[in-house]
Amino acid sequence: MSTVTTPAQAARRELSGFQGRLIGPEDGDYDEARKVYNAMIDKRPELIARCAGPDDVALAVGFAREHGLLLAVRGGGHNGAGLGTCDGGVVIDLSLLRDIDVDPQARTVRVGGGCTWGEVDRATNEHGLATPSGIIATTGVGGLTLGGGLGHLTRKFGLTIDNLLSADLVLANGVRVHASAEEHPDLYWAIRGGGGNFGVVTSFVFRLHDVDTVVGGPTFWPAEQAAEVLSVYREFLPGAPRELNGFFAFHTVPPAPPFPEEIHLRKVCGIVWCHVGDEAAAAKAMAPMLDAVPQPLMHGVAPMPHPALQSAFDGLYPAGEQWYWRADFVKEIPDAAVQIHAQYGADMPTMKSTMHMYPIDGAAHDVDAADTPWSYRDARWGSVFAGVDPDPANVDAIRDWSIGYFEALHPHSAGGAYVNMMMDEGQERVRASYRGNYDRLARIKATYDPDNLFRVNQNIEPQA
Ligand SMILES: Cc1cc2nc3c(=O)[nH]c(=O)nc-3n(C[C@H](O)[C@H](O)[C@H](O)COP(=O)(O)OP(=O)(O)OC[C@H]3O[C@@H](n4cnc5c(N)ncnc54)[C@H](O)[C@@H]3O)c2cc1C
Repeated sequence: MSTVTTPAQAARRELSGFQGRLIGPEDGDYDEARKVYNAMIDKRPELIARCAGPDDVALAVGFAREHGLLLAVRGGGHNGAGLGTCDGGVVIDLSLLRDIDVDPQARTVRVGGGCTWGEVDRATNEHGLATPSGIIATTGVGGLTLGGGLGHLTRKFGLTIDNLLSADLVLANGVRVHASAEEHPDLYWAIRGGGGNFGVVTSFVFRLHDVDTVVGGPTFWPAEQAAEVLSVYREFLPGAPRELNGFFAFHTVPPAPPFPEEIHLRKVCGIVWCHVGDEAAAAKAMAPMLDAVPQPLMHGVAPMPHPALQSAFDGLYPAGEQWYWRADFVKEIPDAAVQIHAQYGADMPTMKSTMHMYPIDGAAHDVDAADTPWSYRDARWGSVFAGVDPDPANVDAIRDWSIGYFEALHPHSAGGAYVNMMMDEGQERVRASYRGNYDRLARIKATYDPDNLFRVNQNIEPQA
C-alpha cells in the first residue's frame, strides 16, 4: 500500500475546522470542480478548497504556504489565461462566497468574493441602481474588479475600480484585513487594478448609481463597410455625451432570433450601445453617428432593464469553449489601423470569433494615472482580439488569427494592455501595462506578500 500522502489527504487531516469542501483528484466531482470557463485551459490541481467563508480561506492560504504549494484563487473562473487554476497546487474556490447585500439608502452593495456580475446586477436593479461592471453576466466580480473593469457604464460612471469603496481580504500570512481609503490605504490603492496579487478578497463594497432601464443593443453594418463606419466612429465617440457608451465590434450574426434571418451568419461590424437615459435622449445622442454612415443592416436598440443588456451575450458565449485572445490599449485609430481592422474583421476564422474596442474615456478620464494602478487613463479604447470556438480542432485557427490581428495593430497601440484581457505574456508585458505604477505596486507587494505566494496572476514581483 502506498504511504505517500497527497495534499488532499493532508488537508483533510490538518484542516479539521474547514467548513467547506476539500476536493482531490480521487473525488467523483473533481473533473467538474477543476473546470474553468476557457476550455483550452485543462489544469489539474492537487487540491480544490471550496471555501465556505473567510475563515476557510485563511486555513487554505495557510495550508498552501506551509506546504510550499502553488496557490491559485478562483473567483468566477472566467480568466482567458486560466489564472483561476493551476497544475499540481491548491485552488481556493470562492464560488460559495455569494452573499449580496444592497443598501439602497447608502447606495452601496456588499458582494461576496465569488459572485458573478449577473447576480449583482439583478440584485441592484431591484432598487433601480447599478455599479459599472462588464458586458457578460457570467464573469466573476473578483477578477474583473481587481483588474479594473471595463463595460457599458464606463463613460458615465468610470471603471469598476473607480466605484470600489472597500474590500475584506485574507493576506498571505492568513491575517484578515479591511482595505479602504482609511484602513490600509496602500492596499486599497493596490487592489484597484493590481489584480489578485495582494490577497484573497472575500467581499467587496461598491458605490451604486441610478441606473434602471437603459437604451441598448447593437447596430450592424456589413463587414465590408468597416473602414467607413470605423472612420466615423473614431471621431464621433470621444465627443459623444457620457450617457452614451458604444463599443465598436466585429461579429458574425448568430443564426437565431432576435436577428433577422436574412442577415444570419453574415460578417458584420457594429456598435453595441448603452445609453443611460430615455429613448429620445439616446436617439439624439446617437444621431450624429448614424446620420454620417450608410443605412445599417440592423438597428436593434431598445429600452431594457440594465441586467438584460448585461446578459445579452451570455447565450452566444457559454462556458466550455476555446478562447484565445490578445489585447492592447489604443489612443488614436489612424487610417492605417482602420485598414488593418477592416482586413482582419473580414477574415474572422469562426462564427464566434470577435473583436471589441471598449471606450475608456468620459468618467474613466476623471481619475489620474497614479490614483489607482490602472495607468492608461490617457487611452481612449481597450481592444481585444478574441478567437472563440466550441471545437478544439479550431484552436490553431483562432490563435493564429488573434495573434496576427494583434501583431498587425500593435505598432498603432499605446503600448500596454488591459491585464484582464491578456494571456500569459510575460513580465515585460505586465510592466508595460502598469507603466509608472509598477514600482509602487512592487513595494506594496513586498509588504503584503513578500514571498509571492499569490503569483498565479498577471504577476507583480515583490521589490527586493
Ligand atoms: C466572455 C468574457 C467576457 C469578458 N468581459 C469583460 C468585460 O466586459 N469587461 C472586463 O473588464 N473584463 C471582461 N472579461 C475579462 C475578465 O475581467 C477577466 O477574465 C477576469 O479575470 C475574470 O474574473 P473571474 O473572477 O471570473 O476570473 P478567475 O479566472 O476566477 O480569476 C482571474 C484572476 O483574478 C484573481 N481573483 C479572482 N477573484 C479573486 C478574489 N476574490 N480575490 C483575489 N483574487 C481573485 C484570480 O486569482 C486570477 O488571478 C471577460 C472575460 C470573458 C471570458
